This record gives sequence, structure tokens and C-alpha cells, in this order.
Amino acid sequence: MTQSRQSPQSPQSLLSLERATVRFDGRPVLDAVDLGVAEGEIVCVLGPSGSGKSTLLRAVAGLQPLDSGSLSLDGRDQARVPAHRRGVGLMFQDHQLFPQRDVDGNVAFGLRMHGFPRAEQDDRVRDLLELVGLPGAARRGVASLSGGEQQRVALARALAPRPRLLMLDEPLGQLDRSLRERLVVELRELFGRLGTTVLAVTHDQGEAFALADRVVVMRDGRIAQSGTPLEVWQRPVDEFVARFLGFDNVVAATVSGQVADTPWGKVPVPEGSAQGPCALLVRPAGVRVVAAGEGLRCTVAARTFRGTHVAVHLSTEGAPRLEAACALREAPEPGDEIGVVFDAAEVVVLRR
Ligand code: ADP
Ligand code: MG
Repeated sequence: MTQSRQSPQSPQSLLSLERATVRFDGRPVLDAVDLGVAEGEIVCVLGPSGSGKSTLLRAVAGLQPLDSGSLSLDGRDQARVPAHRRGVGLMFQDHQLFPQRDVDGNVAFGLRMHGFPRAEQDDRVRDLLELVGLPGAARRGVASLSGGEQQRVALARALAPRPRLLMLDEPLGQLDRSLRERLVVELRELFGRLGTTVLAVTHDQGEAFALADRVVVMRDGRIAQSGTPLEVWQRPVDEFVARFLGFDNVVAATVSGQVADTPWGKVPVPEGSAQGPCALLVRPAGVRVVAAGEGLRCTVAARTFRGTHVAVHLSTEGAPRLEAACALREAPEPGDEIGVVFDAAEVVVLRR
């Protein structure tokens, strides 16, 4: 597998963390994190609540000192550089707009702090509002805006001082699903057009995969996996990452040659798979429904419509449930007795 991991020492890294550690009450919340973000790259850190994502951003922003390790921007160590001198922008989780100010007052905030002349502030606010799809909204009160509009204002405010690194904490977390899916596409386009270097964090895998050039999966303050969205999606390294991505067909298995012994019987594995005891992931697309009497005997327990396919939940004696992805018209009915065979191309041997 080709990991596009950016070495922290790499000369083109804009941001580089080396063994960055933050402890609260003696407990490491960031635990020896090595992370590089290249100029123009969009990196998205994905992890469950409490895994240290916000702490990571606060450390980079200079709002949280490191207990050990180092952090540099453009190759310069930031230990003694205060937050307002780092040239990074942080959009907080709850976007924290100033409710008593209008849109202009919010977006121009950073520009005023940096002493930009009034005319330039006005120009830039107008351009930014256009950029985020809110032309002419400068005089509107923040309280009169919808959640999606507020999010756009927060983004414009973070972009206004042209930070060399833009950090986003759960940027779309508060919005409903359809708006989130639309905004994430717009954001990616926008950052691409501006050439913005972005470090975003989220617990939402859909958001991370849609936004990022590179996804970094975090667990308990450590990096569990880093790679392009495709790499991480196709080859999660371990059971934690696989389950976090929403895969449920994970069992203990033993690989010998090109076959794994599993509670679901013999399952073919890709050529070159690691041998011996492992955790095994079978993607739902690799669970093929065949006629009763062939393959593994299963009963259809439930079906869930997923838009493009049907997730079929199969129960089988003495083994965990299996999820199969079936075409809408071919999905068997609850109660049906069917057979199952496995497709090696959709099987991943995970690190134990
Ligand atoms: P995430 O953003 O991934 O949800 P956080 O970085 O906010 O995670 O928090 C990681 C862990 O650190 C959590 O267990 C949280 O309770 C703890 N934590 C965060 N900030 C503080 C703090 N200032 N003091 C003590 N514990 C904290
Ligand atoms: Mg957080």
C-alpha cells in the first residue's frame, strides 16, 4: 500500500508536530503525535469524541502548551510564539459568533484586530461574503441567520486574516445532514480555489472522507492510521479503525495460505495476506447471497434501505451476524433462508 504520509521533517511541511504530547491530570490526551501538513493540503483528523481532536487544534493554535514534543510552522518552532503571532486561524466547534454584532462586525473582527484600514476591511468582507455564498449579508444580524448561514459567516471570519493554516473544529457538526453534504463539497472546492492549507477535525467519517486529501484516524490521543480517503476506506489497519468507519463484519480468524478460518467458516483472503491469527473484515459488498443449500447457511433477520443498496442482516448459527450489501431489486426478504459465499477482494486482514 502506498501511504501518502507526510514525514514530519519533510521540507514542504507547513505544519509539523513531533511527538507532541499534552497531559491533563497526568493522563496523555495527545500522546506522542507525529503529524505533518503540507502547503495546500487538506488534512482531516477523524476520531470519536474524547480522542483529543480539539486539544490538537488548540495546541497548534497556541491555546494549549505542549507538555513534551515539538510543533513547528514553516520549520520554525512555535513553543515561544503566542497564539496571535502564529498566523493560524481556528474555527471553533460551536463557531462562537458575536451575537450582538452584525455579519460585517463578525467577519471583520480579525481584520480590525490586525489594524487593517477600514476601506480594505470593507473590500475583504464583501469578497469573503461572496466567496461563502452570502453576498450582501454584511448588515444582517447574526441572530437572524440560519445554522448554515452562521456556519458560512464563521468560515468567512476565520478566512478573513488569510491565515497560512486554517483549522476547523467539527466545521459542519451542528448542521443537518443534507446541508452538511452540500457544504462539504463547497468547502473543498473553495479551499482548492484559494489554495488554503487546512487542518480539520471531525467525528463524522462522511465529512472527513468528503473533505480531505488525507485522513488521519485518531484513537485515545494517538494516530491509528493515516492515508488518502481511498486507502483508509479500502484498507483499515485494525479493528478499531474498521469499526469506526462503520464496518460490522469483523471477527477473530486465523489465516493460512489464502484462506481464513472464521466463525463463518472458510473465507478466502487476498493473495499475500499476513498469516496466522488476526481480526478479519469482510466488507458487506463481499458477502454474496446465493441459493439456499450453497455456501454458508443464513437466515435474513432484517433489511435496511441505504439509498443505493439494501443492507441485509443475516443470522447464522454459532457466529456473529453478517451484513450483506444487495442491489435494491435483488435483496432477499426477512425470514428467507439463503446461502452466502465470500469474495476475497472485499476481505481485509487487520492488524491484531
Ligand atoms: P475531542 O475533541 O476529540 O472530543 P478533546 O481534545 O476535547 O477531544 O478532549 C480529549 C480529552 O481531554 C477528553 O477526555 C477531555 O475530557 C479531556 N480534556 C480536554 N480539555 C481538558 C482540560 N482543559 N482539562 C482537563 N481535561 C480536558
Ligand atoms: Mg472536540
